[in-house]
Amino acid sequence: MPPADNVRIGPTPSAPTGAGHWPSGTPTGTPRLTIRGAVKRFGAVAALTGVDLDLHASEVVGLIGPNGSGKTTLVNCLSGVLSLDAGEIVLDGETITGHSRVRRAKRGLSRTFQNLQLFGALTVRENLAVGLNAGSRPNAQQTAALDELIARLGLGRLSRTAVSKLPYGHQRRVEIGRALASRPNVLLLDEPAAGLNDAETAELLALLLSVRKDFACSMLVIDHDMALVLKISDRVTVLDEGTVIFVGAPDQVFQQHNVVEAYLGA
Ligand code: ADP
Ligand code: MG
Repeated sequence: MPPADNVRIGPTPSAPTGAGHWPSGTPTGTPRLTIRGAVKRFGAVAALTGVDLDLHASEVVGLIGPNGSGKTTLVNCLSGVLSLDAGEIVLDGETITGHSRVRRAKRGLSRTFQNLQLFGALTVRENLAVGLNAGSRPNAQQTAALDELIARLGLGRLSRTAVSKLPYGHQRRVEIGRALASRPNVLLLDEPAAGLNDAETAELLALLLSVRKDFACSMLVIDHDMALVLKISDRVTVLDEGTVIFVGAPDQVFQQHNVVEAYLGA
C-alpha cells in the first residue's frame, strides 16, 4: 500500500537539472500536447475550472498542487479515463477531446496510475508485453525491445518473476516500464515516487532522466516529492482548487507567495 498523500517539501536542489532547458523560461513552437479551458465537475465539486497546459516535444513538466487540487483528474481527462465537461485537448496537431483511451494510446499517449494497475499473477516480462500489445508471442524485434527495456528498468534478473512477488519499489518500475513499452510520445506519470524510500526515489530519478534522454518523449510528472519534481522538470505548473496558479521555472516555484499559501492552507 502506498502511504498517505503526505507532502514532502525539500530539500530544494541548488541546481535543478531540468531548469535551463528553456533559458528564456518559456518554450517556443507548437506544443506536442495542449489542453485548453479544461472543466471537470463531480456533482457539486469543480475539480478543474478552466485549466490550460502545454507540453512541448521532449519537455518535462512537473504538475504539483495540494491534495485534491485536480492533478489526477487532469491526467484522467488527458488520457481519456474521464471526459471533459468543457475544453479541448490537442495531441500532435489532432483534436483528441472525444477520443477513447485506446485511440489516444495508439496516437502515442501513455500513462501510469497513482494506484498501481498491474497484473500481479503475470511476470514482469508479461506485464511489459501487455504495454507493447505484443500478445503472447512477441516477434524478434519486440523481444529485443522488451529485453532492452527490462534491463533499463534494472529488472533483468527478475523478468520471469510474478509481479506480486516483487517489492513495491520494483512494482512501480514495472508500471513505468509498461507505459514505456509502447514507445510513447507523451508519458503522464501520476505519483511515480509514491511509497518509495530515498534510495528507490534516487533510482527512479535516474531512470526518468535516462528515459527523457533516450526516448525523447515529453513527460508530465505529478509527485509530492518536491525535490524529485524540481530536479526533473523543465517547467512546473501548480494547481490549486482546479485552477493553475503558477507556471514557470522550477527554481521560481516556491518563491511565489500564492504557491506557498496554497500549500500552507492545505
Ligand atoms: P489530486 O490528484 O490533486 O489530489 P484529484 O484530481 O484526485 O486531486 O481530485 C480533485 C477533486 O475532485 C477532489 O475534490 C476530489 O475529491 C474530487 N474527485 C476526484 N475524483 C472524483 C470522483 N471520481 N468522484 C467524485 N469526486 C472526485
Ligand atoms: Mg492524485
